[in-house]
Amino acid sequence: MSLPSSITPELLAKLTGMVVSTSGRTYPLTEVYTGDKVLDLPQSSPEDVETAYAAARKAQAIWASWPLKSRLDVMKRFHELLLQNGLAIADLMQVETGKARRMAFEETCDVLMVTSHYIKAAPRILKEKKHGGVVPVVSTSTEVRLPKGVIGLISPWNFPFATSLSDAMPALIAGNGVVLKPDNKSTLNVAYGVDLLYRAGMPAGLVQIVCGEGPDIGSTIVENADFVMFTGSTATGRIIGAQAGQNLIGCTLELGGKNPLIVLDDADLDEVIPGAIMAAFLNTGQACMHIERIYVSEKRKDEFTQRFVEAARAIEVGATYDFSPMMGSLVSVPQRERIESHVDDAVAKGATVLTGGKARPDLGPAFYEPTVLTDITPDMILAKNETFGPVTSIYTYKTVDEAVALANDTDYGLNASVWGKDVAAAEAVGRRIQAGNININDGLAASYASKKSTSGGFKTSGVGSRHGDAGMLKYTDVQNVAVLKKQVLSNPPDTDWDKNVDQTVKGLRFMRKLGIR
Ligand code: NAD
Repeated sequence: MSLPSSITPELLAKLTGMVVSTSGRTYPLTEVYTGDKVLDLPQSSPEDVETAYAAARKAQAIWASWPLKSRLDVMKRFHELLLQNGLAIADLMQVETGKARRMAFEETCDVLMVTSHYIKAAPRILKEKKHGGVVPVVSTSTEVRLPKGVIGLISPWNFPFATSLSDAMPALIAGNGVVLKPDNKSTLNVAYGVDLLYRAGMPAGLVQIVCGEGPDIGSTIVENADFVMFTGSTATGRIIGAQAGQNLIGCTLELGGKNPLIVLDDADLDEVIPGAIMAAFLNTGQACMHIERIYVSEKRKDEFTQRFVEAARAIEVGATYDFSPMMGSLVSVPQRERIESHVDDAVAKGATVLTGGKARPDLGPAFYEPTVLTDITPDMILAKNETFGPVTSIYTYKTVDEAVALANDTDYGLNASVWGKDVAAAEAVGRRIQAGNININDGLAASYASKKSTSGGFKTSGVGSRHGDAGMLKYTDVQNVAVLKKQVLSNPPDTDWDKNVDQTVKGLRFMRKLGIR
C-alpha cells in the first residue's frame, strides 16, 4: 500500500522540522495499516522542553499585547486554511492512527467548530466586567481577564488533532502561548495544524511542539507550565494532577470512561440500532465517550440483541484511504493485544461472544473485529475497566431504577446515553446518571458537538472542563481592579466605635433591603 499522494517527503521534512529536538534520539513512526516505517520522529530532551518554553514565552508577550480583534483575525484565516486543507490532515491522521477516513475528516470539523465558536464568543467572554464597588457611587471594581502565560498541552493519539488544536484554540485566543506534546504516534497531523496557524499569521514561536514519551519529558512540561491541559488516561491524569498541585498551578484533566447506554422500553429500535452502533464502534471504539455497556430491559433484550448483533456484523472494516469503511484499525499492535486480553479474560470467565472476538491480520497488524459480548460478570476485567476498543457488552435490567443503578456502578463518569420515545422521561432518567455528558436519543455527538456548553468528566473521568465560557476562562487569571474615587474606608483616630458599629449594622441592613449588597 502506498501513502496518500498528499504526503510528500518535503511535507514530512517540514513537519518533523517543527519538533524542538537536539537530543539525536528518534521514534520509529509506522503506517498503522501496514506496519511499515514512515520516518524517524525526533525526540525532545528535558532541555529542549525548556528551550521551547523560553521561545513560547517570548512570542506570548508579543501576542498578548495584540488587540483581541487582531488575534481573532488570525483565527479567521486559520479557519479558512483548515477548510481548504482538511483532507490532507485526514491523510496524515489515517497514516498515523489507522482510523477510518470518515472519522479523520469529522475530527478536523471539531477544530473548525471550536474555532468558529470562540471567534464569536471570545469578545463577550474576555470583556472586562465592571461592578459597583464596596461603597456605592464612589467606588468601582473591574474584573480583568489576563492570559495565564504559556500552557502545557498534552494530547493522546485517539483524537490527536481535536485534543491538540481544539483545546489550544481558546488558550491562544485568550493571549497565551502553548507548548504542545502530542503522542509520538500522532504528531504529524498536529504539526500540520500548527503550521496552518503560522500561515494564518500567528507570531513565530508561539506554539512549540515537543515530542517524547511521557515519563521522559512529562514532568518538565508540567514544571514549566502556567496551566496544564491534559487529555489521556486516568492513570497519567493522576500523575499530572499531583505535579500541578505541587506547583500550585491549575489543570484540566480529561480522562477515561466506561460509558453506559440505556434502552428504555418505549425506544424506537430503528433509531437506537444505528445510533448505538456508531456510539460503540466509532473510531474503532477508541473514543473516551464511546459506549462499552448497553442496558436493555428484559422485555426487549431479544429483539435488541438480534438487531444490534446483525448491524455489528454488517460494519465494513477496512484499510483504505477513502471513505468506504466505517471502521478502521486499532492504533497499534499493543493496543490490539490489550483488547484481546480483555475479551479473552471475559470469555475464559464465561462471557458469550455474540459476534467478533478476533483479530483480523488479513486486513492489517492491528485490526480487530467489532465485538459484542453478553453474560458479563463483575470478576471480568472489562466489567469495570475501560477497554478502549471495538468491544461492547449487553446487559439486562428489570426496572428503570435498576438500570440507573447499574449505569452508575462505575468509578468513571464521562458520558451516558439514554434512548426513549417519551423524550421528557428519557431526559429524567439521563439526569440521574452521574456523568458530565448526558445524551438523550444520541450516543455522544450531541453533547460533544455543543460547543456553547461546558462539560467534563465526573468522578475519575476528569477534573475541570472544556468548551463553553469556562473552557476559555480557565486559561486566564482574573485581576480585580478596585478604584475609590475618594478615600472613605479608613477610620479616623477619634472614631467612636460604638456609634461606628451601630451605623455599620444599619447601613448593611439598608443595603440588603435595597438589594445593593
Ligand atoms: P496516556 O495517558 O497513556 O497518554 C496520553 C498522553 O500523555 C500522551 O501524549 C502520552 O505521551 C502522555 N503521557 C504519558 N505519560 C505521561 C506522564 N507521566 N507525564 C506526562 N505525559 C504523559 O493515554 P492514551 O492511552 O494515549 O490515551 C487514551 C486515554 O485517553 C483513554 O483512557 C481515553 O479515555 C482518554 N481520553 C480522554 C478524553 C476526554 O476528553 N476525556 C479524550 C480522548 C482520550
